[in-house]
Amino acid sequence: MIATPQAGAGAVLALVGRPGAGKGTQGRLLAARLGVATLSVGDLLRDAVKTNAPLGRTIERYVSRGYLVPNRFVLELLWSRLGEAAARGRGVVLDGFPRNVRQALALEEMLAPRRLDLVIELSVQPAVATERLLARRRSDDGLEIIQRRMDVYDRTTAAMIDWFRQAGRLVTVEAHHPAEIVHQHLSEVVERALSQTMSLREAPS
Ligand code: AMP
Repeated sequence: MIATPQAGAGAVLALVGRPGAGKGTQGRLLAARLGVATLSVGDLLRDAVKTNAPLGRTIERYVSRGYLVPNRFVLELLWSRLGEAAARGRGVVLDGFPRNVRQALALEEMLAPRRLDLVIELSVQPAVATERLLARRRSDDGLEIIQRRMDVYDRTTAAMIDWFRQAGRLVTVEAHHPAEIVHQHLSEVVERALSQTMSLREAPS
């Protein structure tokens, strides 16, 4: 079955996975399919580097070396944008956020009394992900920086993903296929999961 715009209207979804898993591409495709907004934290940070001089220079030091930007900067940038989407009652697909447990907890606090509806992991072998990033030629996509980003993922983000998995709040989609195939699987998995969460929420207590 294919996700309809109604299935995800107002939902807050997080797309997580290692660098090169395809979060950006799949986030845009999924958001268009569901009729919700998309917010890429990597894009927000890169925009801040371009436009906001003192803060931008600080952020750039982390992004260019492949380290996570400290939470206080990320949260400040994200909250105002997320607040806008929430105020319009629009759902959102978050691309690349949260990336550690603290960010996940802060997000749930920010959304309360609502919560994150679904966390979707795009799963891909490190070698496939590395090849994709090398083909992309972004400035933080040199081999040494890619390896550091993979390390940060393995040491920090993977633990957060396991945390959601253990809480039964994670769905995983194999992401080594071509983008259209991944999109198809992703849409099916998300629609199934959302219809379950939505019907649970609507059930009389
Ligand atoms: P991305 O565009 O998702 O590949 O992210 C590019 C870079 O932005 C990462 O290597 C980090 O330096 C930074 N970044 C993106 N998302 C986050 C996040 N949630 N927390 C901290 N830093 C982030």
